[in-house]
Amino acid sequence: MLIGADVKIFAVIGCPVEHSLSPIMYNTVFAELGMRCVYVAYKVEKHYLSDAIKGIKALGIKGLSVTIPHKSSVMQFLDKVDEEAKIIGAVNVVVAEEGQLVGYNTDGAGFIESFKNETGTPVADKVYVIIGAGGAARAIGVCLGLRGAKKIFVANRTVEQGQILADNIMETTGCVARGIPLTRDSLRKSIEEADVLVNATSVGMHPGNDEIPLDDSVFRRGLIVCDVVFNRTTELLQRALAHECLVMNGIGMLIEQGALAFELWTGVKPPKEVMRNVLQKVMTG
Ligand code: NAP
Repeated sequence: MLIGADVKIFAVIGCPVEHSLSPIMYNTVFAELGMRCVYVAYKVEKHYLSDAIKGIKALGIKGLSVTIPHKSSVMQFLDKVDEEAKIIGAVNVVVAEEGQLVGYNTDGAGFIESFKNETGTPVADKVYVIIGAGGAARAIGVCLGLRGAKKIFVANRTVEQGQILADNIMETTGCVARGIPLTRDSLRKSIEEADVLVNATSVGMHPGNDEIPLDDSVFRRGLIVCDVVFNRTTELLQRALAHECLVMNGIGMLIEQGALAFELWTGVKPPKEVMRNVLQKVMTG
């Protein structure tokens, strides 16, 4: 595409952003749909965030993805934040709507969409064990609570953070939630009661980095095991598969959160198969 003055610009801001897959994913979709749009990556250091957001508005950039470390801090610089993003306490998508910058969170909703599509079951009335209490865990926990989860255990390495997230889920969604230590014993007991286990930490992103304290005895046929890590099949999922659990990796969540963002920016539903194909091609080198 020849870049003319009519081309609309979209971007991701974060630090680092060099390894972001978003430019390749969205530019492939824009090309596929023949849309005169381009998506670029801006590395924005923490102390420049306020200036960067003013610049986005001044330059008429149409939409943003927001990634680590700005997902929470960006909220104070926006004109409006969607209710669900407010409850989650983080924004991963910004839309320029009639001169105003509006923040949304599509991470949690992306997980839910992927869960429904890949497991063929609804999220309501199930008991979940979520490992982690960072941004991904918060988005997933709050969205599960808002959509009728029966009970949520939050197991985190830093126990206090897990308890804070559990309290926050109870307060904002009314779902019963409990913080538990990330130990073999407490995981075994909570998983016995659960329908779904979700790893929402970065553990598993690299081979051999299998630091979740789980005995194989926790895996049973019928247990659903999800991992937000999307760059490889983690040891957790390999072990769960070997014990006939139903497993879901993080690629579906990545595609669904991206598809929701694309629709918020453009009003167009993107072709998800194109997104999946390009991501798989890039990730397998
Ligand atoms: P974050 O806010 O930095 O939180 C990291 C979480 O991982 C914390 O709960 C942390 O525990 C825990 N953790 C880190 N290293 C650990 C270890 N060695 N053992 C046990 N726990 C550990 O990060 P995030 O934004 O939530 O991202 C987490 C993962 O989700 C990343 O892999 C990211 O790529 C993935 N993600 C995927 C998608 C998708 O679409 N598939 C979307 C968003 C994020 P402490 O509190 O104890 O530090």
